Amino acid sequence: MRINYEEFARRADALRAQIATACAAAGRDPRDVELLAVTKTHPAAAADYAARYGLRAVGENRVQEAVEKRPQLAPASSALRWELIGHLQSNKAKLAAQHFDRIQSVDSEKLLNHLDRAAADLGQILPVLLQINAGDDPAKFGADLADAPRLVEAALAKKNLRVDGLMTIAPLGATPAETADHATRTFVALRSLRDDLAARLGTPLRELSMGMTNDLALAVAAGSTLVRVGTALYGDR
Ligand SMILES: *Cc1c(COP(=O)(O)O)cnc(C)c1O
Repeated sequence: MRINYEEFARRADALRAQIATACAAAGRDPRDVELLAVTKTHPAAAADYAARYGLRAVGENRVQEAVEKRPQLAPASSALRWELIGHLQSNKAKLAAQHFDRIQSVDSEKLLNHLDRAAADLGQILPVLLQINAGDDPAKFGADLADAPRLVEAALAKKNLRVDGLMTIAPLGATPAETADHATRTFVALRSLRDDLAARLGTPLRELSMGMTNDLALAVAAGSTLVRVGTALYGDR
């Protein structure tokens, strides 16, 4: 990580402004869109910057990396919440439940079962998002759109999990225009899936975790409540 805190704060201010502009265009309240700082591959100081700036949470995509980093944080960063945004194997469910405050990458009933049991053993209710491959990308993890209703219903039935909403990652295209087109279609698909399921199952599924450095404005336009940003905050990995 080549930036100091002042540079981080400038970048975070610029992102907040970008989110506010996208919200204004969509008639949305910017307070309804949270900025999640993605600290993967960066040192623990990256998470300290996020905490000092007043961000609520950081995202990591590997369990082991977070396990190593979390104890290195400054004492002032202790309220920071840690969210897992990368693929999780069932055999790491217990470790993930111990070290993360929320898991965004839940994409199978098998993983749901493991996480529910791990949370029960810990005597905790574990918040989760369900990762949906809403862009139908063969290179991405996440439940297929067609399987999503069953996965959401299974998650809602787990006594030790709290289902906050859905997460997706948009597929890349061959050109910037195609990438933007894929992103919009993916985000609109996740939003309408959420609206359908929320109405049918009578539960809000409030959180729509979608949008990263390159597509966050499109995600906000489609209803994102949580943008996951690494590069724009910390530079290239
Ligand atoms: C790395 C990562 C991000 C952040 O991507 P940037 O393009 O660096 O903003 C967001 N979401 C997930 C799931 C990631 O793995």
